[in-house]
Amino acid sequence: MEKICIFCKNAITDKKGHFSYISITCPNCGDYSITCDAIEDLPQHLEGKYKNKKHLISGLLREQSEYKLKNEVITSENYLEMLNSPKIPINLSEKIDKLLLYIHNHTSTFMGKVLIDHHQPAIAYAMDSKELENLLKALVGLIYIVEQQHIAGHPNIYFLTLDGLKRAEELQQQQIHISRFYRTTWWCILRGRFCSWSWFACDLDMP
Ligand SMILES: [Zn+2]
Repeated sequence: MEKICIFCKNAITDKKGHFSYISITCPNCGDYSITCDAIEDLPQHLEGKYKNKKHLISGLLREQSEYKLKNEVITSENYLEMLNSPKIPINLSEKIDKLLLYIHNHTSTFMGKVLIDHHQPAIAYAMDSKELENLLKALVGLIYIVEQQHIAGHPNIYFLTLDGLKRAEELQQQQIHISRFYRTTWWCILRGRFCSWSWFACDLDMP
């Protein structure tokens, strides 16, 4: 097997074989697991019909890896479901939000430095380095981040402004509410009743 990520074509940095799948570490997509069959089957789809969507899978894998979320083993059958994930941004402004949250997630102190490698567009579900650069410019334009260092060939250094910090915290709260909503809706469906009342009321009834 080539040591190349089938989703983004970057050289993978680690590969571990298991009984029925392989765990891969890609500098762009992060950590993910995939079956050998999928490694054989997927490239024909990713380079064909889904060529202009494969960066979204890279983005999803990276997000799951960043937040240490449970990652289902990718198979020849389930990879299409990944494209329907509610985590995938549906418009450009949601990509900007994802990038802001990434920077916030890597900020350990107020105005702490965050290194951004332009060769990792998956951190913002970007198509390529150029789009990532433009999304960063948008965050600078919104005065949510400040660029501290820009040296060609090196990761750029940014930090969050107070407005950027507030916006990121607002987005985090929205995500918590959305995830509670999905959890609660599923709970209500599993209990065999529809949530005709508010999700809030259902939430109170959860164990
Ligand atoms: Zn990759």
